[in-house]
Amino acid sequence: MNYCYLNGRYVTKVKTKISVEDRGFNFSDSVYELIQFRNNTLYNYSKHLTRLSKSLEEVSIANPFKNFNSLFLIIKYLIRMNKYNSGYIYIQISRGEAARNHLFPTNIKPNVVILLYPLRRDMDVSKGVAVKTGADIRWKKCNIKSTSLLANVLGKQFAKENGVYEIWQLNEKYEVTEGTTSNSFIVCNENIIYTHPKNEYILGGVTRDTVIEIAKVNGLKISETPFNLKHIEKCKEAFLTSTTVGVLPVTIINKRLVSDGDIGGITKHLMSLYNNHLTQQLNQI
Ligand code: PMP
Repeated sequence: MNYCYLNGRYVTKVKTKISVEDRGFNFSDSVYELIQFRNNTLYNYSKHLTRLSKSLEEVSIANPFKNFNSLFLIIKYLIRMNKYNSGYIYIQISRGEAARNHLFPTNIKPNVVILLYPLRRDMDVSKGVAVKTGADIRWKKCNIKSTSLLANVLGKQFAKENGVYEIWQLNEKYEVTEGTTSNSFIVCNENIIYTHPKNEYILGGVTRDTVIEIAKVNGLKISETPFNLKHIEKCKEAFLTSTTVGVLPVTIINKRLVSDGDIGGITKHLMSLYNNHLTQQLNQI
């Protein structure tokens, strides 16, 4: 039996009911978070909460939790109910339910849904993945972790239909903003790692931010500067990051082998540092 949380109640997924006038359903007027957990530990939890608060603030949805400690207790209880050892927690908060009207309704309460998913591997990615570049057709508020993901959905499906794992999205200057579900990195000459700066054109990934911190602490050179198609053609290594996959090597970009199709040394080093960083969090909270 799979239990989820809906507005203060713990219910089985099949019995969960939410209104067809939920604004998340009608307008994507909702934000979300995805957090990985293992052995009762919520990885990078405070970073996820900070981003959730910012997303809520950006769209003026009142924070439904008096304090985030109550959210923490709800999540822990849900993990226990579901008897999951590891997986992902999905939190979605919509503005609430009201008769369809674009304007914000007054006096409505946010709808809060929390779901659990098992750890997931869509395909064998252990040897790295291929990516392809494509136009970034999204809006100018990608920093909000909103459920308005249609452009990302179309992009990810396009990737699959083209035999690649991810589309690295390009702006008008042919610079990579990010993937449809992940942040993008390349390693260039002098072993400098490049990734798009954190602004409204990308989702500031929790994994991205953590990797940047880890890289700096460990003396790696990292620059939050956009890179373009020309840089990609010459890059020595590449990888992408997300909560779902951690640090994932990219070995083919636009059909060109990167680091001869092997996982690059810096990428390997970062994968190991990132995994250690997660392991160190086990049982600390
Ligand atoms: N960018 C986009 C567009 C995403 O959907 C995601 C994953 N939700 C990321 C980046 C990676 O973010 P995180 O590391 O917080 O999972």
